[in-house]
Amino acid sequence: MQNQFIKTLNMQIIENEKQYDVVIVGSGAGGGMATKILADAGLKVAVVEAGPFFDPANPDQQTQLKWPYESPRRGAGTTRAFGEFDMAYGGWEIDGEPYNQIGESKFDWFRSRMLGGRTNHWGRISLRFGPRDFKGKDRDGLGDNWPIGYEDIKPYYDKVDKLIGVFGSKENMYNEPDGYFLPAPKPRLHELYYKKGAEKSGVTVIPSRLSILTKRINNERGICFYCRQCSRSCSVYGDFSAGSCLIFPAQKSGGQVDLYVNSMVREVEVNEEGKAKGVLYINKEDRKEYRIRGKVVVLAASACSTARILLNSKSAQHPNGLGNSSDLVGKYLHDSTGTDRMAFVPELMNRKRYNEDGVGGMHLYSPWWLDNKKLDFPRGYHIEVWGGLGMPSYGTGFNPNDLNKYLGLKVGGYGNQLREDVKKFYGSVMGMSGRGESIARKENYCEIDPTTVDEFGIPVLRFNYKWSDYERKQARHMHNTFEEIIENMGGIVLGEKPGADRDYGLLNPGRIIHEVGTTRMGSDPKKSVVNEFEQLHDADNVFIVDAGPFVSQADKNPTWTILALSWRTSEFIIQELKKQNI
Ligand SMILES: Cc1cc2nc3c(=O)[nH]c(=O)nc-3n(C[C@H](O)[C@H](O)[C@H](O)COP(=O)(O)OP(=O)(O)OC[C@H]3O[C@@H](n4cnc5c(N)ncnc54)[C@H](O)[C@@H]3O)c2cc1C
Ligand code: SF4
Repeated sequence: MQNQFIKTLNMQIIENEKQYDVVIVGSGAGGGMATKILADAGLKVAVVEAGPFFDPANPDQQTQLKWPYESPRRGAGTTRAFGEFDMAYGGWEIDGEPYNQIGESKFDWFRSRMLGGRTNHWGRISLRFGPRDFKGKDRDGLGDNWPIGYEDIKPYYDKVDKLIGVFGSKENMYNEPDGYFLPAPKPRLHELYYKKGAEKSGVTVIPSRLSILTKRINNERGICFYCRQCSRSCSVYGDFSAGSCLIFPAQKSGGQVDLYVNSMVREVEVNEEGKAKGVLYINKEDRKEYRIRGKVVVLAASACSTARILLNSKSAQHPNGLGNSSDLVGKYLHDSTGTDRMAFVPELMNRKRYNEDGVGGMHLYSPWWLDNKKLDFPRGYHIEVWGGLGMPSYGTGFNPNDLNKYLGLKVGGYGNQLREDVKKFYGSVMGMSGRGESIARKENYCEIDPTTVDEFGIPVLRFNYKWSDYERKQARHMHNTFEEIIENMGGIVLGEKPGADRDYGLLNPGRIIHEVGTTRMGSDPKKSVVNEFEQLHDADNVFIVDAGPFVSQADKNPTWTILALSWRTSEFIIQELKKQNI
């Protein structure tokens, strides 16, 4: 794109001569969907992305189908948080891009720097929010209701299902709405054990809902061939990634999409009326600062990065940061609750060997099944299940030798003894993860740290986040449930049950990587940052299509809702541009 930059305005900022209809910051779920819808409508779109170009089909970037022996540590992580072959270019810590905490706060912030963002290596759990999820306050008086309801977003969930593809099953459950599903894969043996144990305790178990193609939906994408490696990103585009399923198709269908990769946006610039006129970014290759202009700016840098950009966009018109007249940018940050437990199932020892790889994720799960009136915490959680005969590799978290203690046998050993133990216990350990809804609170927030800048000279974020007893009690309930299910399966619970001293095992906020809420949606500009079309109250040509606008996070994973809202907002932008309202 370098040749478009012809005019140097001053020593610092290099100006792009091209004027775009829309400048989109970030190319993950939200940015990818906006790119597709806006470019398909004929608009000239610039996508400004902090990470490099990435295509899962590029053999130079591919890690799918590599063997453990092709990694120096046999698949265990060196620099990557989820193992050497995981496709995240990033992680909890990124060199040169620090973040800080206030006081005792321990917020862990996962970022991926690459075209497609975190959708290149996410879990592909693709759940719709249900009608109750938009109106939590009506049920228990906590948090706030969304200004929209399920009926507003349903048509967009439907379109997302059809465009991207998701497998699942029709269940007719009120708060787990059915969609347009591809056939779900059959459960594997450890999942059948889970089902048996869970149903004995009255826990609902249904086929999972993942955005993986079990049937062909178009000629651009292949069908899943069950290699179980979605976290490595799929070279045949069998699973959903924003690059392969949204941005590349937008380019192929003639869309006017210019990609500016390795470009870290510092701020949104505004004109005298306080409306956006484009963005300033640092090119990470030459370290120079560039300006790019657009009629509309769409922020999709992920909930906390977008808050950071807005707070760093101070001007005479917006002295508190862009969109921050309410002082709410960064506030109400919340992540899903989460805790995990592992089990050893003796009946699964010495299993017959066969390929049961399946998709890169669970084939069954449990949506929230209880009534809070009978519980000591608000909102709910779902249970994810994992285990089976996966590819053996290092870094999987347990020592097979150790399991002998549950059988009254000698622990330890090497050579033939170790080999026998590995074979004996292979496939007999499984686990459960609870992922639940926390309450959005103003006291949990991110803000600009006045003392620290990143390697590009951009002020960084600091976090202030504490769990409340609502979340702790939910985690306690998760462990009680896991233990009951494991007992019902004839399994042995591994590890000690975490007590109050360890917040009942509740993982640090941020760990579930569902951070949302930093630019909340609402109809009152004093109590929210964007309106129901994710449009800034303070600047009508700026939109936010990541998870920042979420008022609450539900007991579901957020990405299907990010995608549906981004589509809805993009249609609104097209209409408003046609009407010359923005
Ligand atoms: C291991 C893992 C598993 C997950 N599993 C699931 C799951 O099963 N289901 C689910 O719903 N969700 C899951 N998630 C969460 C999911 O990945 C996110 O909800 C989703 O990707 C968020 O989309 P986004 O567009 O807001 O942000 P991202 O996907 O993070 O994309 C943001 C993009 O913006 C870029 N960017 C950031 N700052 C700037 C800047 N200043 N200038 C330019 N570009 C910038 C980033 O480089 C990135 O490419 C998972 C996440 C992880 C990491
Ligand atoms: S499990 Fe299927 S969708 Fe996932 S990477 Fe393998 S082939 Fe692709």
